[in-house]
Amino acid sequence: MAQDTIFAKIVAGEIPVEILAETERVIAFPDIAPQAPVHILVIPKSTEYENVVELAAGDPETLAEMVSVAKQLAEKHGNGDFRLLFNSGATVGQTVFHVHAHVLAGDLKENSLVGA
Ligand code: 5GP
Repeated sequence: MAQDTIFAKIVAGEIPVEILAETERVIAFPDIAPQAPVHILVIPKSTEYENVVELAAGDPETLAEMVSVAKQLAEKHGNGDFRLLFNSGATVGQTVFHVHAHVLAGDLKENSLVGA
């Protein structure tokens, strides 16, 4: 279970961010260290899930909502195409253990999975 993460503080309004999208269950805001021309994080407001595997098992509707919000953001901030990335586990680069989708868009380098 995710608990005291930086994203929990963002959801609680303790750390200000520019909210780019909000629904009953999710919020989206720019990544502080963008790796692509468009790099937005979409996260559930719930602090219950550490990674996408837990979320898919425990609350698939919220996962579907995150995908839908990602699509809307890609349309608003780019041409509608996007890459959706979930790091799941520290050894592949997950640093915040509150499930989040990276929405990457813009002119991503052809051979880079992360668009960096
Ligand atoms: P991860 O590496 O866990 O998949 O992704 C965590 C992401 O959160 C990183 O891309 C990092 O730049 C971003 N991040 C970490 N702290 C903050 C913060 O305080 N504000 C924002 N907007 N993004 C953050």
